[in-house]
Amino acid sequence: MAFKLTDYEAYDFANRRHIGPSPTEMAEMLKVIGFKTLDDLIDATVPEAIRQQEPLDWGPAMTERDALYHMKEVAGQNKVLTSLIGQGYYGTSTPAPILRNILENPAWYTAYTPYQPEISQGRLEALLNYQTMVSDLTGMDIANASLLDEATAAAEAMAMAHRGARSKANNAAFFVDQNCHAQTIAVIQTRAAPLGIDVVVADPDELDPGAVFGAIFQYPGTYGHVRDFTDEIKALHDHKGIAVVAADILSLALLKSPGEMGADIAIGSTQRFGVPMGYGGPHAAYMATTDKLKRAMPGRIIGVSIDSRGNKAYRLALQTREQHIRREKANSNVCTAQALLAVMASMYAVYHGPDGIKAIAQSVHRKTSRLAAGLEEHGFKVEPEVFFDTITVEVGPLQQTVMEAAVARGINLRKVGETKVGISLDEQTRKETIEAVWGAFGIAREDDSSNKQYRLPDYALRESAYLTHPIFHKNRAEAEITRYMRRLADRDLALDRSMIPLGSCTMKLNATVEMIPVTWPEFGNLHPFCPKDQAMGYHAMIEDLNDKLCQITGYDAISQQPNSGAQGEYAGLLTIRNYHAARGEAHRNVCLIPTSAHGTNPASAQMVGYKVVPVVADDHGNIDVADFRAKAEKHSDHLAACMITYPSTHGVFEDTVQEVCEITHEHGGQVYIDGANMNAMVGLAQPGKIGGDVSHLNLHKTFCIPHGGGGPGMGPIGVKSHLTDHLPGHPEYGSAVGPVSAAPFGSPSILPVSWAYILLMGGAGLTQATKVAILNANYIAARLKDAYGILYTSATGRVAHECILDTRALNDEGGVTVDDVAKRLVDSGFHAPTMSWPVAGTLMVEPTESEPKDELDRFCDAMLSIRAEAQDVIDGKIDPQNNPLKNAPHTVRDLVGDWDRPYSREAACFPPGSLGVDKYWSPVNRVDNAYGDRNLICTCPPMSDYDESGDS
Ligand SMILES: *Cc1c(COP(=O)(O)O)cnc(C)c1O
Repeated sequence: MAFKLTDYEAYDFANRRHIGPSPTEMAEMLKVIGFKTLDDLIDATVPEAIRQQEPLDWGPAMTERDALYHMKEVAGQNKVLTSLIGQGYYGTSTPAPILRNILENPAWYTAYTPYQPEISQGRLEALLNYQTMVSDLTGMDIANASLLDEATAAAEAMAMAHRGARSKANNAAFFVDQNCHAQTIAVIQTRAAPLGIDVVVADPDELDPGAVFGAIFQYPGTYGHVRDFTDEIKALHDHKGIAVVAADILSLALLKSPGEMGADIAIGSTQRFGVPMGYGGPHAAYMATTDKLKRAMPGRIIGVSIDSRGNKAYRLALQTREQHIRREKANSNVCTAQALLAVMASMYAVYHGPDGIKAIAQSVHRKTSRLAAGLEEHGFKVEPEVFFDTITVEVGPLQQTVMEAAVARGINLRKVGETKVGISLDEQTRKETIEAVWGAFGIAREDDSSNKQYRLPDYALRESAYLTHPIFHKNRAEAEITRYMRRLADRDLALDRSMIPLGSCTMKLNATVEMIPVTWPEFGNLHPFCPKDQAMGYHAMIEDLNDKLCQITGYDAISQQPNSGAQGEYAGLLTIRNYHAARGEAHRNVCLIPTSAHGTNPASAQMVGYKVVPVVADDHGNIDVADFRAKAEKHSDHLAACMITYPSTHGVFEDTVQEVCEITHEHGGQVYIDGANMNAMVGLAQPGKIGGDVSHLNLHKTFCIPHGGGGPGMGPIGVKSHLTDHLPGHPEYGSAVGPVSAAPFGSPSILPVSWAYILLMGGAGLTQATKVAILNANYIAARLKDAYGILYTSATGRVAHECILDTRALNDEGGVTVDDVAKRLVDSGFHAPTMSWPVAGTLMVEPTESEPKDELDRFCDAMLSIRAEAQDVIDGKIDPQNNPLKNAPHTVRDLVGDWDRPYSREAACFPPGSLGVDKYWSPVNRVDNAYGDRNLICTCPPMSDYDESGDS
């Protein structure tokens, strides 16, 4: 026989690594759905009228090797100097075990927000540690697990004070300490304007407590002053005002806490607890408050509850405050926050413990004292007299010279006014750093680290204890914390274990290659306010990414400032608001929003002062165009905007979208298209071309940034050219429009993920991904439609990239709830689909393009088996309460106990899909949410409360 040599092509990223089903599998799946080719399916699904004419094309996709090489070159254009700029961002040493086992570990970074508590016990515990750490250090009763950045946390605190203030001056003014960081003041001003709040920025000595509903003070101040605010806070309280303290978390290891001064709210950043500066983010901001105000606090709060066996279990507490339930009446629009970074900061506290944290704080302070003494001895005037880690030096006409001399020595100092230089030291400051700073001032001097001088003010010294819980008192062996992190990770289901079919959330592959550049020092170690010529790599990346996102969306400009989808909505609506105002139409304040919209939409509209007018859906789940038109006409004079999602939150490409946009425009409104569903559009249709004026993209959905267990995220907005001048600006860039985030580019150190994805896929690859996302969803719909019924489809019978399974009949006929289905899926090793949104009692499934056919089938098999179990309940073949659905999830505890159930242990623990020996075991039985809210505990419970099963 003749030997025939076949040429093999290496599997590339775009065609095979990112996209789940193989070509053979796709053919099988198309057959099940009833189509010959993928393009036939797409033609029958995406309406002709909205199809993109020109294919996406910016040259061939890169290989993984080429992409990393290219990115390394671009990253190399960033110059990594030692930044002593301070202003809320500091050098920090990420402990290596935390870098490797958390930040670089898919078990942590690919997890979803812990809405399903049974499969989230690990990250819930880490986040509870975070809350305990924040409560302890700030001296407050309760903390949340996390806000987006320090500046937005300050703005949230102002809004919270505004809602909660009982002072007569309500609706009057909010006082802002002029020693707050510049970006904090700017973000507060942005947030205040649409709410009609006057912002008074002044020295705390000038505070008139009767004239404001609240005040924020910075501690220590941005130029280093440490002031005890007890008297100001008391004066505010006498006038029923609310006091907010923005505190540096590390300084609190040595300084009296905000709680001890009487503060009502404390906010700040936990960046310097081991999270790299990353040119501005992501980092976790914290907020803590008093027991009295806890229900007014925004953001996610972890609480302690019990499971059905009465064992301790964690879950999200007080969810009724949040946007997904309260919509425009919510405390804020915060959805995605900074969970992964909060976990890192909490582990930093677990790793160092109170003594270690105190040692770091003392060392930072002593270094600053020595630096100041050296400057003073050489005749420089140093302010303030007492400080923690920040000093300001008067240099007269030498400002430029000193700053340049510092840069020549590899150090960035802060420009303060025209004659001063600011210096903030940190954990990473070395003897050589201090000597180089002196050198920049023309001082030749050796640093003597045996000099242990303290210059902290007596009136602000901390005497109270912190981090007293045993979790912060491990024995410091690395073996112990490594195993602790591993144990917590093992309790959770993340994408590294199974698909997470969460409708709207797009839990697709977060490829390892995309994550590699994130921890390069060239991206990690830049201060957001370093000189621009040191950040050329960042600027080149952002420019290229923006250019490609414009091509993808059909918009003309992108702002990378919003650091979550909800912040993108807020930024986009502000842009619309600015546009109307610039045209003399500032009175426009009505926003039409379909009732099926994501909760962040109405919550964001409320933040810009818009009145939400709901629009109903027709019987097919589409926007009722007649209702939409009637409401647009009724509010024509005041119509500011509509907010729609496309394809709809019902998972359907509505063919009326252009009509809806036209109606809005006819009545003078602007169209906001929520871009969370871009995964169904990239390469096939463009929001900027079908009538949208502005959209946000969730880079942590469509563009592969991992969810991190509830953040980080990026929510850049795209706008048409008429809105470009009204995009958010930043004090560092001197724009007239205010900022919405602390840093000019939000959380730029995670942008390499999205950029890598786009480079690796190329235009054709991205388009193919969209098509396969639609294929996968239609395959699941085809396999499950007879068992469950698909709630909404298009006129052609198709779904977009997700579909709603109707589980309501199971409840009506057999009392099997959507919760029962979700928890039973845990026994098969799956995270449940999105529950009860956008339609109560249903499940919304989004498989994404990254899931291979085997995994889709495993999911469908599990769902079909659950349907059969529900039928047994409906038919009366099994007890309506004591059955595998109601008792789910099953744990090892169930197995070893007495077994008096009308079904077998085998059926309980090994339903279809459960993977036998590789089965995921839920660490707890079903969690009782109501109990947790009735008995609210939001800090680590005492060790005696832990059962002896070995749970930490
Ligand atoms: C996820 C999502 C949002 C909010 O995005 P976050 O980043 O969580 O703030 C808004 N709208 C829709 C439809 C979404 O799915």
